[in-house]
Amino acid sequence: MFALVDVNNMYVSCERVFRPALNGRPVVVLSNNDGACIARSNEAKDLGVRMAQPWFEVRHLERTAGLVALSANFELYGDMSSRMMSLAAEFAPRQEIYSIDECFLDFEGVPGERSAIGRELRRKVLQWTGLPTSVGFGATKTLAKLANHVAKTAERKPGHYPPELRALAQRLAQVCDFGRLTAGELEAVMQATEVGDVWGIGRKTSARLNEGGIRTVLDLVRADVATLRRQFSVVVEKTIRELRGTPCMDVNDAPEANQQIMCSRSFGAPVTELSDLIEVMSQFASQVARRLREQGSVAGAVHVFISTSPYRRNDRQHAPSATLPLPQPSADTRVLISAAVRALRSIYRPGFNYAKAGAMLVDLHAQAPGPEPGQGSQATLDLFEPDPQPQAPLRGRAGERTDLMSALDTLNERFGRGAVAVASATRRAGPSAHVSRQERRSPRYTTRLEEIAKARAA
Ligand SMILES: [Mg+2]
Repeated sequence: MFALVDVNNMYVSCERVFRPALNGRPVVVLSNNDGACIARSNEAKDLGVRMAQPWFEVRHLERTAGLVALSANFELYGDMSSRMMSLAAEFAPRQEIYSIDECFLDFEGVPGERSAIGRELRRKVLQWTGLPTSVGFGATKTLAKLANHVAKTAERKPGHYPPELRALAQRLAQVCDFGRLTAGELEAVMQATEVGDVWGIGRKTSARLNEGGIRTVLDLVRADVATLRRQFSVVVEKTIRELRGTPCMDVNDAPEANQQIMCSRSFGAPVTELSDLIEVMSQFASQVARRLREQGSVAGAVHVFISTSPYRRNDRQHAPSATLPLPQPSADTRVLISAAVRALRSIYRPGFNYAKAGAMLVDLHAQAPGPEPGQGSQATLDLFEPDPQPQAPLRGRAGERTDLMSALDTLNERFGRGAVAVASATRRAGPSAHVSRQERRSPRYTTRLEEIAKARAA
């Protein structure tokens, strides 16, 4: 049995922890350079603000509806994430971090009533970090994801469910355990949930499924697997099997989380040396960088984590993480490795048996349009130039860089992943002359002493 723990409106919730006056108000968090809305409070969703909607399109709501917009503060979100993750990890022997605000917990063999455990987990995370979470339990990861979706929907929009399901929905709000439902109840909930809400069923696939008459999750569960495999892919087939309760989603074919790209691994043997971790982290960063370029995006921040194993009970435990915002969004392997390694150096402590590590790219956006990426008006962070000279012509350099990255991708495609790699990109980048626009960024309350929250007597 898996649980999926997910923070509600993560970025907005992190901001509200330190600014309770934002509770109940419509709030959005803006992407790098304050361009688009990448997180919305429920109130902002109710105003009709869409995910990734450009800020200029909704800016008028500041005046007319009291909308509050904040610049993304990934250093804060990353730190809050690691606090939430380490609390969640205490509740089950195995945790798999899936995104900055979601993790799977494997409840196999864990005694006790799961809904009660889920509520305790939720209560503890809320009390210790201030972050509201939803918890979904299911026999497979896809079902746990779906249960989590139901836990959220039942809390936020109880009216979404038909009258005969309202009492049930109330019971499933915040913490939803599919394992406790009768077959009839589970079918009713699946009937009331759109097929596009299933993990890994994207907008295009759900539109095609709708055309074929498959509108709800229940329709999909009852569909003919062989037909859908032919029409779609083996991923859709696996999804159906998972929805029927057969685990078949491997970590590697699990759908990528929205707005982030992650690579993580558990080690066969404990790793203690920084140099070994740097090598692993560099490989992770190269992999996520390649996937980033494949989807034509750039990343604004790099989040890394390392952790010891809770199984090794005699080991001292250490599970730190850090998020490093980039001065300029980038898809350059060297820039991303450098950032990941710098973040790693800041959290590594000697003397621990590390069992797991991961790198995650966050704050993703589409590569700026233009003839050559990187040729915008802003300078590109250059690792190999300790003192960036923004007045120098950048055209050639940015162009060469892009060529280099596509050459790297081509070689690795032809000769196998890792055939060509950045040997060691640990040299520190100099201070950038160009810091991205973040006019509305809140203080980094938890990671910078000079920005710590101040208590005032009333
Ligand atoms: Mg979330």
